[in-house]
Amino acid sequence: MVAKVIDGKAFAANVRGQVAGHVAKLKADKGITPGLAVVLVGEDPASKVYVKNKHASTIEVGMESFEHRLPAETSEADLLALIHRLNGDPAVHGILVQLPLPKHLDSELIINSIDPAKDVDGFHISNVGLLGTGQKSMVPCTPLGCLMMLRDHHGSLAGMNAVVVGRSNIVGKPMAQLLLGDSCTVTIAHSRTKDLAEVCKRADILVAAVGRPEMITGDMVKPGATVIDVGINRIERDGKAKLVGDVHYDSAAAVAGAITPVPGGVGPMTIACLLANTLTACCRANGLPEPKGLTA
Ligand code: NDP
Repeated sequence: MVAKVIDGKAFAANVRGQVAGHVAKLKADKGITPGLAVVLVGEDPASKVYVKNKHASTIEVGMESFEHRLPAETSEADLLALIHRLNGDPAVHGILVQLPLPKHLDSELIINSIDPAKDVDGFHISNVGLLGTGQKSMVPCTPLGCLMMLRDHHGSLAGMNAVVVGRSNIVGKPMAQLLLGDSCTVTIAHSRTKDLAEVCKRADILVAAVGRPEMITGDMVKPGATVIDVGINRIERDGKAKLVGDVHYDSAAAVAGAITPVPGGVGPMTIACLLANTLTACCRANGLPEPKGLTA
Protein backbone atom coordinates (compact mmCIF):
# COMPACT_ATOMS: atom_id res chain seq x y z
CA MET A 1 0.00 0.00 0.00
CA VAL A 2 1.19 3.50 -0.74
CA ALA A 3 -0.29 6.03 1.64
CA LYS A 4 -2.33 9.03 0.59
CA VAL A 5 -0.37 12.13 1.54
CA ILE A 6 -2.42 14.50 3.70
CA ASP A 7 -1.33 17.91 2.44
CA GLY A 8 -1.27 20.12 5.53
CA LYS A 9 -0.07 23.12 3.55
CA ALA A 10 -3.09 23.05 1.26
CA PHE A 11 -5.42 22.23 4.16
CA ALA A 12 -4.07 25.14 6.20
CA ALA A 13 -4.43 27.50 3.23
CA ASN A 14 -8.07 26.43 3.00
CA VAL A 15 -8.63 27.05 6.73
CA ARG A 16 -6.98 30.47 6.49
CA GLY A 17 -9.21 31.24 3.48
CA GLN A 18 -12.32 30.29 5.47
CA VAL A 19 -11.17 32.44 8.39
CA ALA A 20 -10.54 35.39 6.03
CA GLY A 21 -14.05 34.98 4.61
CA HIS A 22 -15.62 35.08 8.08
CA VAL A 23 -13.48 38.09 9.06
CA ALA A 24 -14.53 40.02 5.95
CA LYS A 25 -18.20 39.29 6.74
CA LEU A 26 -17.80 40.29 10.39
CA LYS A 27 -16.28 43.60 9.31
CA ALA A 28 -18.90 44.28 6.65
CA ASP A 29 -22.00 43.16 8.58
CA LYS A 30 -21.11 44.01 12.18
CA GLY A 31 -18.19 46.45 11.99
CA ILE A 32 -16.12 44.03 14.11
CA THR A 33 -12.46 43.21 13.43
CA PRO A 34 -11.04 40.24 15.35
CA GLY A 35 -7.77 41.14 17.08
CA LEU A 36 -4.89 38.94 18.21
CA ALA A 37 -2.26 40.15 20.69
CA VAL A 38 1.04 38.29 20.74
CA VAL A 39 3.49 38.87 23.57
CA LEU A 40 7.16 38.03 23.10
CA VAL A 41 9.58 38.36 26.01
CA GLY A 42 13.27 38.20 25.17
CA GLU A 43 15.31 37.42 22.10
CA ASP A 44 14.91 33.66 21.50
CA PRO A 45 15.60 33.38 17.74
CA ALA A 46 13.03 30.62 17.07
CA SER A 47 10.36 32.51 19.04
CA LYS A 48 11.09 35.68 17.06
CA VAL A 49 10.49 33.79 13.80
CA TYR A 50 7.22 32.27 15.13
CA VAL A 51 5.96 35.69 16.27
CA LYS A 52 6.85 37.26 12.91
CA ASN A 53 4.96 34.51 11.07
CA LYS A 54 1.95 34.84 13.37
CA HIS A 55 1.86 38.61 12.78
CA ALA A 56 2.00 38.18 8.98
CA SER A 57 -0.70 35.49 8.96
CA THR A 58 -2.98 37.54 11.22
CA ILE A 59 -2.76 40.55 8.91
CA GLU A 60 -3.25 38.33 5.85
CA VAL A 61 -6.69 37.13 7.03
CA GLY A 62 -7.77 40.71 7.76
CA MET A 63 -7.45 40.62 11.55
CA GLU A 64 -5.77 43.21 13.76
CA SER A 65 -2.36 42.13 15.04
CA PHE A 66 -1.06 43.67 18.27
CA GLU A 67 2.58 42.80 18.86
CA HIS A 68 4.19 43.35 22.26
CA ARG A 69 7.95 42.77 22.30
CA LEU A 70 9.41 43.05 25.78
CA PRO A 71 13.02 42.87 26.94
CA ALA A 72 14.28 39.58 28.44
CA GLU A 73 14.65 41.21 31.86
CA THR A 74 10.93 42.20 32.03
CA SER A 75 9.60 41.63 35.54
CA GLU A 76 6.72 39.30 36.30
CA ALA A 77 4.72 42.27 37.64
CA ASP A 78 5.17 44.21 34.37
CA LEU A 79 4.19 41.22 32.25
CA LEU A 80 1.12 40.54 34.41
CA ALA A 81 0.15 44.22 34.12
CA LEU A 82 0.32 44.00 30.32
CA ILE A 83 -1.82 40.84 30.26
CA HIS A 84 -4.30 42.50 32.59
CA ARG A 85 -4.51 45.43 30.15
CA LEU A 86 -5.01 43.11 27.18
CA ASN A 87 -7.68 41.14 29.09
CA GLY A 88 -9.64 44.38 29.43
CA ASP A 89 -9.10 45.64 25.87
CA PRO A 90 -12.26 45.05 23.78
CA ALA A 91 -10.24 45.22 20.53
CA VAL A 92 -8.22 42.17 21.63
CA HIS A 93 -10.07 38.86 21.26
CA GLY A 94 -7.08 36.54 21.49
CA ILE A 95 -3.93 36.70 23.62
CA LEU A 96 -0.89 34.52 23.05
CA VAL A 97 2.22 34.62 25.20
CA GLN A 98 5.04 33.07 23.19
CA LEU A 99 6.72 30.22 25.06
CA PRO A 100 9.28 29.48 26.35
CA LEU A 101 9.49 32.47 28.69
CA PRO A 102 12.78 33.53 30.29
CA LYS A 103 13.56 31.41 33.37
CA HIS A 104 12.77 34.09 35.99
CA LEU A 105 9.14 34.21 34.83
CA ASP A 106 6.60 31.66 36.09
CA SER A 107 4.98 30.38 32.86
CA GLU A 108 2.01 28.78 34.63
CA LEU A 109 1.23 31.95 36.55
CA ILE A 110 1.49 34.05 33.38
CA ILE A 111 -0.66 31.72 31.23
CA ASN A 112 -3.28 31.43 33.96
CA SER A 113 -3.51 35.22 34.17
CA ILE A 114 -4.90 35.36 30.61
CA ASP A 115 -8.69 35.68 30.41
CA PRO A 116 -9.69 32.06 29.51
CA ALA A 117 -12.07 33.42 26.84
CA LYS A 118 -9.05 35.08 25.13
CA ASP A 119 -6.66 32.15 25.68
CA VAL A 120 -6.29 31.19 22.02
CA ASP A 121 -3.47 28.74 22.80
CA GLY A 122 -5.87 26.80 25.04
CA PHE A 123 -3.24 26.41 27.78
CA HIS A 124 -5.16 28.13 30.63
CA ILE A 125 -6.08 25.67 33.37
CA SER A 126 -9.80 26.51 32.89
CA ASN A 127 -9.62 25.54 29.23
CA VAL A 128 -7.71 22.35 30.09
CA GLY A 129 -10.50 21.46 32.53
CA LEU A 130 -13.28 22.36 30.11
CA LEU A 131 -11.72 20.21 27.37
CA GLY A 132 -11.22 17.35 29.84
CA THR A 133 -14.89 17.45 30.79
CA GLY A 134 -16.13 17.74 27.21
CA GLN A 135 -17.30 21.34 27.55
CA LYS A 136 -16.88 24.28 25.19
CA SER A 137 -13.31 25.56 25.53
CA MET A 138 -10.43 27.09 23.63
CA VAL A 139 -8.54 24.11 22.20
CA PRO A 140 -4.73 24.00 21.75
CA CYS A 141 -3.91 24.80 18.13
CA THR A 142 -1.71 21.86 17.10
CA PRO A 143 -4.09 19.09 18.27
CA LEU A 144 -7.04 21.03 16.84
CA GLY A 145 -5.27 21.06 13.47
CA CYS A 146 -4.69 17.30 13.67
CA LEU A 147 -8.36 16.73 14.53
CA MET A 148 -9.52 18.83 11.57
CA MET A 149 -7.36 16.83 9.15
CA LEU A 150 -8.54 13.52 10.62
CA ARG A 151 -12.22 14.53 10.39
CA ASP A 152 -11.69 15.67 6.82
CA HIS A 153 -10.04 12.39 5.86
CA HIS A 154 -12.35 9.98 7.71
CA GLY A 155 -15.61 11.80 8.31
CA SER A 156 -16.65 10.16 11.58
CA LEU A 157 -13.88 8.91 13.87
CA ALA A 158 -16.29 7.03 16.15
CA GLY A 159 -15.12 3.60 17.25
CA MET A 160 -11.63 3.89 15.75
CA ASN A 161 -8.61 2.81 17.78
CA ALA A 162 -6.40 5.86 18.27
CA VAL A 163 -2.92 5.77 19.75
CA VAL A 164 -1.23 9.03 20.74
CA VAL A 165 2.50 8.69 21.40
CA GLY A 166 3.47 11.51 23.78
CA ARG A 167 1.68 12.90 26.83
CA SER A 168 2.69 16.55 26.90
CA ASN A 169 0.20 19.18 28.03
CA ILE A 170 0.41 21.05 24.74
CA VAL A 171 0.05 18.16 22.27
CA GLY A 172 -0.35 14.59 23.56
CA LYS A 173 -2.94 15.04 26.31
CA PRO A 174 -5.26 17.49 24.49
CA MET A 175 -4.98 15.36 21.33
CA ALA A 176 -6.12 12.33 23.29
CA GLN A 177 -9.02 14.32 24.80
CA LEU A 178 -10.14 15.49 21.37
CA LEU A 179 -10.05 11.97 19.94
CA LEU A 180 -12.00 10.73 22.94
CA GLY A 181 -14.49 13.54 22.32
CA ASP A 182 -14.94 12.16 18.80
CA SER A 183 -15.59 8.70 20.31
CA CYS A 184 -12.30 7.01 19.44
CA THR A 185 -10.96 4.32 21.76
CA VAL A 186 -7.82 6.12 22.88
CA THR A 187 -4.46 4.87 24.16
CA ILE A 188 -1.78 7.31 25.29
CA ALA A 189 1.77 5.98 25.02
CA HIS A 190 4.88 7.56 26.54
CA SER A 191 8.50 6.87 27.44
CA ARG A 192 7.53 4.19 30.00
CA THR A 193 5.14 2.33 27.70
CA LYS A 194 6.00 -1.35 27.30
CA ASP A 195 6.24 -2.79 23.79
CA LEU A 196 5.49 0.48 22.01
CA ALA A 197 5.57 -1.22 18.60
CA GLU A 198 2.76 -3.58 19.57
CA VAL A 199 0.69 -0.69 21.02
CA CYS A 200 1.18 1.42 17.89
CA LYS A 201 0.29 -1.48 15.61
CA ARG A 202 -3.23 -1.58 17.09
CA ALA A 203 -3.90 1.98 15.93
CA ASP A 204 -6.30 2.92 13.15
CA ILE A 205 -5.15 6.47 13.92
CA LEU A 206 -1.56 6.91 15.08
CA VAL A 207 -0.46 10.34 16.29
CA ALA A 208 3.26 10.80 16.98
CA ALA A 209 4.18 13.71 19.28
CA VAL A 210 7.45 12.59 20.78
CA GLY A 211 10.27 14.86 19.65
CA ARG A 212 12.50 11.97 18.54
CA PRO A 213 13.55 11.95 14.90
CA GLU A 214 11.99 9.12 12.83
CA MET A 215 11.33 6.96 15.90
CA ILE A 216 8.07 5.44 14.60
CA THR A 217 8.98 3.07 11.79
CA GLY A 218 6.82 1.26 9.24
CA ASP A 219 6.91 -2.03 11.16
CA MET A 220 5.06 -0.24 14.01
CA VAL A 221 2.20 0.87 11.74
CA LYS A 222 -0.97 -1.13 11.10
CA PRO A 223 -1.59 -1.56 7.36
CA GLY A 224 -4.03 1.11 6.20
CA ALA A 225 -3.72 3.24 9.36
CA THR A 226 -3.77 7.04 9.29
CA VAL A 227 -0.50 8.44 10.61
CA ILE A 228 -0.31 12.01 11.92
CA ASP A 229 3.26 13.15 12.51
CA VAL A 230 3.44 16.13 14.87
CA GLY A 231 7.20 15.96 15.34
CA ILE A 232 9.51 18.70 14.13
CA ASN A 233 13.15 17.67 14.48
CA ARG A 234 16.14 19.42 12.98
CA ILE A 235 18.84 16.89 12.09
CA GLU A 236 21.95 16.80 9.95
CA ARG A 237 22.11 14.19 7.19
CA ASP A 238 24.82 13.88 4.55
CA GLY A 239 26.26 17.13 5.87
CA LYS A 240 23.00 18.99 5.28
CA ALA A 241 20.44 20.39 7.75
CA LYS A 242 17.12 18.61 7.39
CA LEU A 243 13.69 18.75 9.02
CA VAL A 244 12.18 15.36 9.89
CA GLY A 245 9.21 14.18 11.91
CA ASP A 246 8.86 11.60 14.66
CA VAL A 247 7.82 9.09 11.99
CA HIS A 248 10.19 7.41 9.55
CA TYR A 249 8.29 8.66 6.54
CA ASP A 250 9.32 6.25 3.78
CA SER A 251 8.80 3.04 5.74
CA ALA A 252 5.54 4.27 7.32
CA ALA A 253 4.14 5.58 4.02
CA ALA A 254 4.66 2.13 2.49
CA VAL A 255 2.24 0.63 5.05
CA ALA A 256 -0.14 3.41 6.11
CA GLY A 257 -3.38 4.37 4.39
CA ALA A 258 -2.72 8.07 4.85
CA ILE A 259 0.12 10.09 6.33
CA THR A 260 1.12 13.69 7.02
CA PRO A 261 4.59 14.66 5.75
CA VAL A 262 7.19 16.77 7.58
CA PRO A 263 7.48 19.53 6.59
CA GLY A 264 4.09 20.38 5.09
CA GLY A 265 1.81 18.33 7.35
CA VAL A 266 0.75 19.32 10.85
CA GLY A 267 3.11 22.33 11.04
CA PRO A 268 1.16 24.74 8.82
CA MET A 269 -2.09 23.84 10.61
CA THR A 270 -0.90 25.29 13.93
CA ILE A 271 -0.97 28.94 12.84
CA ALA A 272 -4.16 28.36 10.81
CA CYS A 273 -5.84 27.05 13.98
CA LEU A 274 -4.53 30.00 16.00
CA LEU A 275 -6.39 32.27 13.57
CA ALA A 276 -9.46 30.02 13.74
CA ASN A 277 -9.38 30.20 17.55
CA THR A 278 -9.09 34.00 17.46
CA LEU A 279 -12.13 34.15 15.19
CA THR A 280 -14.02 31.78 17.50
CA ALA A 281 -13.08 33.90 20.54
CA CYS A 282 -14.26 37.04 18.75
CA CYS A 283 -17.60 35.45 17.80
CA ARG A 284 -18.15 34.22 21.37
CA ALA A 285 -17.23 37.64 22.83
CA ASN A 286 -19.83 39.27 20.61
CA GLY A 287 -22.55 36.66 21.15
CA LEU A 288 -22.40 35.57 17.51
CA PRO A 289 -22.61 31.97 16.19
CA GLU A 290 -19.25 30.20 16.02
CA PRO A 291 -17.77 29.50 12.59
CA LYS A 292 -18.68 25.97 11.52
CA GLY A 293 -15.86 23.45 10.96
CA LEU A 294 -13.22 25.64 12.62
CA THR A 295 -13.71 24.52 16.20
CA ALA A 296 -13.61 21.18 18.02
P1 NDP B 1 7.51 16.94 24.93
O1 NDP B 1 8.98 16.76 25.00
O2 NDP B 1 6.85 17.88 25.88
O3 NDP B 1 6.82 15.51 25.11
C1 NDP B 1 7.32 14.39 24.45
C2 NDP B 1 6.53 13.17 24.85
O4 NDP B 1 7.09 12.06 24.16
C3 NDP B 1 6.60 12.86 26.35
O5 NDP B 1 5.31 12.55 26.82
C4 NDP B 1 7.52 11.65 26.42
O6 NDP B 1 7.18 10.72 27.43
C5 NDP B 1 7.30 11.00 25.09
N1 NDP B 1 8.46 10.21 24.70
C6 NDP B 1 9.77 10.57 24.72
N2 NDP B 1 10.55 9.55 24.33
C7 NDP B 1 9.72 8.51 24.09
C8 NDP B 1 9.93 7.18 23.67
N3 NDP B 1 11.16 6.71 23.43
N4 NDP B 1 8.87 6.37 23.51
C9 NDP B 1 7.61 6.83 23.76
N5 NDP B 1 7.35 8.09 24.15
C10 NDP B 1 8.40 8.93 24.32
O7 NDP B 1 7.19 17.33 23.41
P2 NDP B 1 5.94 18.10 22.77
O8 NDP B 1 4.70 17.35 23.00
O9 NDP B 1 6.02 19.52 23.11
O10 NDP B 1 6.34 17.99 21.22
C11 NDP B 1 6.44 16.74 20.57
C12 NDP B 1 6.93 16.96 19.17
O11 NDP B 1 5.99 17.76 18.46
C13 NDP B 1 8.26 17.73 19.08
O12 NDP B 1 8.98 17.23 17.97
C14 NDP B 1 7.84 19.16 18.80
O13 NDP B 1 8.81 19.88 18.10
C15 NDP B 1 6.62 18.92 17.94
N6 NDP B 1 5.65 20.01 17.96
C16 NDP B 1 5.16 20.43 16.76
C17 NDP B 1 4.24 21.41 16.70
C18 NDP B 1 3.70 21.81 15.36
O14 NDP B 1 3.25 22.92 15.19
N7 NDP B 1 3.71 20.91 14.38
C19 NDP B 1 3.75 22.10 17.89
C20 NDP B 1 4.25 21.53 19.12
C21 NDP B 1 5.18 20.53 19.14
P3 NDP B 1 7.32 11.03 29.01
O15 NDP B 1 6.15 11.91 29.34
O16 NDP B 1 7.23 9.70 29.62
O17 NDP B 1 8.63 11.70 29.19
